[in-house]
Amino acid sequence: DYYRLGNEVRRALAGDAGSESLYKWGTSGSIPGLNDMGMLASYNFSRVSIEGAENLSGQHLLDEGYLIGRESCFGCSTACHRHVRSLTHEWGRVRDSGPELETVLSLGAECGITDTEAILLANRLCNDLGMDTISAGHVISWAMETYERGILDREQTDGLDLRFGNIEAQATLLQRIAHREGAFADLLAHGTRYAAEEVGRDSWKWAIQAKGLEQSAVDTRAAKSYALAFAVNPRGPDHLMTETFAEFGFTQESRDVIREITGDENYADPRLLEKRAEIVRWHEDVYGATEALGFCVFTSTAAFAVNPKNMSRFFSLGLGVPFDEEQLLLGGRRMVTIERCFNVREGARRQDDLLPWRMMNEQVPSGPNTGMVTDQEMLDRLLDQYYALHGWDQPTAVPLRSTLEKLGLGELCGDVALDG
Ligand code: SF4
Repeated sequence: DYYRLGNEVRRALAGDAGSESLYKWGTSGSIPGLNDMGMLASYNFSRVSIEGAENLSGQHLLDEGYLIGRESCFGCSTACHRHVRSLTHEWGRVRDSGPELETVLSLGAECGITDTEAILLANRLCNDLGMDTISAGHVISWAMETYERGILDREQTDGLDLRFGNIEAQATLLQRIAHREGAFADLLAHGTRYAAEEVGRDSWKWAIQAKGLEQSAVDTRAAKSYALAFAVNPRGPDHLMTETFAEFGFTQESRDVIREITGDENYADPRLLEKRAEIVRWHEDVYGATEALGFCVFTSTAAFAVNPKNMSRFFSLGLGVPFDEEQLLLGGRRMVTIERCFNVREGARRQDDLLPWRMMNEQVPSGPNTGMVTDQEMLDRLLDQYYALHGWDQPTAVPLRSTLEKLGLGELCGDVALDG
C-alpha cells in the first residue's frame, strides 16, 4: 500500500502544472509572468519590471543553450535545479548549478543587471565563496542605490563605481565581501541592516530587510499573504519558512487549495486582505509537516500533488499507526509555535513582525499594481487576524498558555506563555 501510494503521488506530481514548469524551466520559469504582472523586483525594489527581463528566465536558459542538464535532489522526479554553462565566457567560464529564481532577481534585476553571462558568473562566485545569493544581491543593490543617491562616493566604496548595472563592480564586490577586503566590503559583509545603520542618512529606508535578514524578491506590497507570511517569519522575510504561492491562483490546483482553505476559490487573489491569516497558517502547517516528513515544499506548495491527505497516509502506512490530516497539520503548527516561543524568549514581540520600510511606505510605482503598499494599518489588520487564529496574545504576539496546552507544548514552552 505504501509503494502504491508513492506511485499514485508520483503520477499526480507528473501531471501537476507547477511541477511541469519547474522541470522544464526551473524556478526562474516564472520571470516572464512576474514581469507582466509588474512584480519583478528590480533596482533594489524601486521598480517592478526591467528591460531585458527575458534574459533572466528559465525559458531563455533552455532556448539559448545555457542549460546543459537538470539536477534533482535524491529521488525527486521534478528535478527543478539547473546545470548551466556560459556560452561567450565574456565574464568568465561557468559550468555550474543554478541560477535559481531568487538569484537572477537579487544578483540580476535588483542590481540592474540582465546580462545572462554576468548572472551565471555572479551565481558561481556566490556558490564558490559560500554566500547566500539573496543577501549578497540585496546588500549590493542597497549599496548601488545609496551610491546613486550620492550618499556614498567612490572613495567610500574603495574605488568602485557602484552604479546600477555595473557588472564588473558587482563581481569585484562579491569577492571583496567574501574576503572582507577593504573597509567598504567589510561593512557590507555585516549585512544590509548593519550597513544602513552605519551609513545613516535615511539609507535604512531602502534597506530591503527585516529582522536583519534581506527579503526574498517577492513584492509584498501586492501579495498580502506573502506580506503576512514574511512579517511573521521568525527568521525574517525569506520564502523558505512559508511561501503562499497558491494565493495567485495561477493553476487550477492552486485555486483548489485556496477553496479547501477558505471555502471559496475567489480568495485566490493576492490583493485581498480577507482570509490571508487562514491561507498563511495552512501553508505554515503544511510547510512544517512537509519538511518533518522529508518531502520537498515545492511538491506541496508550488506544485500541490503532495498534500495533507496523502502525507498523513504515508505516515500512517509507514509507521503502522493511525494518523490523520488534522494530526499532521497540528504537527506543523507545533513547529511554528515552538519557533515563536524561542523568539519570545529572546525578546521578540509584535513590533518585530514587520516588513522592510519600502514595502510599507512606498507605493508600487508602475504596472498593474500601481499604488499598492502594505502599510502599518494593513499589516496590523493581518497580524490581528493571524495572532487570533493561532491563539496568541494580540498586543504582544506571545502564545497564550491555553494554546500551548492544547498543542501539548505546555511543558516545553510554558515559561514564555501569557496567561489566558
Ligand atoms: S526535491 Fe524539491 S528542490 Fe529538490 S529537485 Fe525536487 S522539487 Fe527541486
